[in-house]
Amino acid sequence: MRGTAEVVPNETPMETVVCGKCGQRYAIRMEAASQDAELSRKQASFVADQLVWDHIQERKHQGTIELPSFEKERSSVVAI
Ligand SMILES: [Zn+2]
Repeated sequence: MRGTAEVVPNETPMETVVCGKCGQRYAIRMEAASQDAELSRKQASFVADQLVWDHIQERKHQGTIELPSFEKERSSVVAI
């Protein structure tokens, strides 16, 4: 984990996922070295599924969402 709520540099590629139920937004940040459009789509749909699942289980969304282990070294998901 890096620091707290630091400003994201503009050059950082970022995908945004918005919860369809409550409007909570998450940013998926990838390491610059591993930009991969297909992976980023996959991660976005993974995050969207987690958000839907939170509502189904009546859970609060987390501040961060864990990606599957092989991906989380390269990307992070944080509420924005
Ligand atoms: Zn929601």
